[in-house]
Amino acid sequence: MYRDLFPILDQQVYGHPLVYLDNAATTQKPRQVVETMNTYYLSQNSNIHRGTHYLAEQATERYEAVRRQVQRFIGAAHSHEIIFTRGTTESINLVAASFGQRYLHEGDEVVVSEMEHHSNIVPWQLACQRQGATLRVLPFDERGVLRLDRLEPLLNEHTRLVAVGHVSNTLGTVNPVRDIVDCAHRHGVPVLVDGAQAIAHMAVDVQALDCDFYCFSAHKMYGPMGVGVLYGRERWLEEMPPYQGGGEMIKEVRFEGTSFNELPFKFEAGTPAVAEVLGLGSAIDFMLQAGVGTIARHEQELLSYASSQLKQIDGLHIYGTAPDKTAVISFLAGTAHPYDTGTLLDKLGIAVRTGHHCTQPVMDHYGIPGTVRASFAIYNTRDEVDALVSALRRIAPMLM
Ligand code: PLP
Repeated sequence: MYRDLFPILDQQVYGHPLVYLDNAATTQKPRQVVETMNTYYLSQNSNIHRGTHYLAEQATERYEAVRRQVQRFIGAAHSHEIIFTRGTTESINLVAASFGQRYLHEGDEVVVSEMEHHSNIVPWQLACQRQGATLRVLPFDERGVLRLDRLEPLLNEHTRLVAVGHVSNTLGTVNPVRDIVDCAHRHGVPVLVDGAQAIAHMAVDVQALDCDFYCFSAHKMYGPMGVGVLYGRERWLEEMPPYQGGGEMIKEVRFEGTSFNELPFKFEAGTPAVAEVLGLGSAIDFMLQAGVGTIARHEQELLSYASSQLKQIDGLHIYGTAPDKTAVISFLAGTAHPYDTGTLLDKLGIAVRTGHHCTQPVMDHYGIPGTVRASFAIYNTRDEVDALVSALRRIAPMLM
């Protein structure tokens, strides 16, 4: 579906048609996203917010229109709850630094899950080190399902935040975010959700989830690299101190002291990535035109087809068998190192990711060095699943 919108897919790699199954790392970009960014630089480029001239006003209006578009896309109550960042990593770092400075103190605790991406572990480790707090970990079971029964006992009067992924980038597990939020809120604890792997694959409504923060990157949802979003509930963002200082985030600057701008500008210091924000807007248009439900259904079909086909390969083991999954399949072929499997697949034109996928604790859980990961998007086809399966059968004698 939609393959003609993605010219990059129409190429040969080592004499084979490219089969791009590395969508959890980054999705390809439809023509309209690239054209939006080109048009901006070729005919609309101007710095925003500070100009009185035509181009500056147009650029500002378009940039702020994307903020409102993101607000609608994720169901936020206010557009000033949408902060543009460089991506999920920066969104989480922003909260860890700013929320951490305001609310995290000696003896406090932050809870993360065992299946988090390093981006949702390391910023909390750093914040805990700075503030004298402790990181606590919610484990998952052998299928890759979070042990929700272990959440309540982790929460106490010292817990300041729960930070959890909506979808695991390695296991594909869709976590029951609303249940986690309900449980945390019963203890007065806010919840940050890392939505990097959810936003392109399902409808997200931050008010329905009732989460306090939601983070994602444009490049994993058909948009450009270098831009992402932090959604934060107004009451937290109002209370949190600025993350970075600079232009645009101030109201008045005197050497005696500075007062800060209102939301969302308090958290957007300096010149933002305007072209990339417009590209994000175009990516959202693409997802809405395709239909988020259609995308989800198509990917679920590919997931069940690919899972059933891969299971028939002798010696192939799939990691992550949660009942609620996105189209991410991590596996190992026999005892072969994932890197070897990935390299051989690459020579047959098949792009997968190998390694720990920035989730070393997940690898430690299973006692493996890494996995091979195939991840799917709207433009992938059953033929491509067949290509993956037949390539694996072809290289199996070399690996197992
Ligand atoms: N969280 C998850 C679950 C991810 O999969 C990723 C990227 O792979 C990130 C966070 C980091 O995203 P980014 O590198 O776009 O900041």
